Amino acid sequence: MSALATVRAVVFDLDDTLYPEVDYVRSGFQCVANHLAKGEWTADGIFELLWSAFSQGPKDRVFNTVLEQLGRDDNSETIAGLVALYREHCPQLQLAPETIDILDQLKQDYRLGLLSDGFLPAQQLKVEALGLGKWFDKIIFTEQLGREFWKPATKAFEMMSDALGCPPESCVYVADNVSKDFIGPNQLGWQSIRLINERQVHSDIAPVPGGEPGFVIRKLSELIYLLKS
Ligand SMILES: [Mg+2]
Repeated sequence: MSALATVRAVVFDLDDTLYPEVDYVRSGFQCVANHLAKGEWTADGIFELLWSAFSQGPKDRVFNTVLEQLGRDDNSETIAGLVALYREHCPQLQLAPETIDILDQLKQDYRLGLLSDGFLPAQQLKVEALGLGKWFDKIIFTEQLGREFWKPATKAFEMMSDALGCPPESCVYVADNVSKDFIGPNQLGWQSIRLINERQVHSDIAPVPGGEPGFVIRKLSELIYLLKS
């Protein structure tokens, strides 16, 4: 594997790159469980149902599955209310000490960006909970540009390299999801690195054409070595 070309800007994805997304799912389910607890059903009991439904899938029907198990109506209004509660809750999240150390190190030598897809305000609340603001020179939530600018669109990546003042070939995107994360940066001539581990929500999907990362790492700490190699 050849080395990275000279990098000036390191841009990160958020979910399953800077922290494990399952931590957010658990936090959201705890909030929903507290809301649904009633009578014989405790929040702990409902949390277990939610977690089990999520683990078994389908992941987009978790609330329906659990409401049915509880014998409650799963009409679209109720589901929309639970989804809003989940996306608007203030999550309990923490960065791993190793991640804090890596961001501290990178901040000394590189421009740093955060570029994230996903629903607002959920993504903003995650960034706040993790205290990420202090490391990043620029944060872009694609949702603020409009749904059509979610990955794999290239616009947010162009805006990022402009904002950081670094040409595309000196930017690297560090992310996890090969179905969408690397298509845009690859098209623009960015370098790309996939972080992969078995805890990730999307760890088992295959790359789409044009979506292959230039490099693969299994721990964020490998990034430091890769950048300096
Ligand atoms: Mg991700």
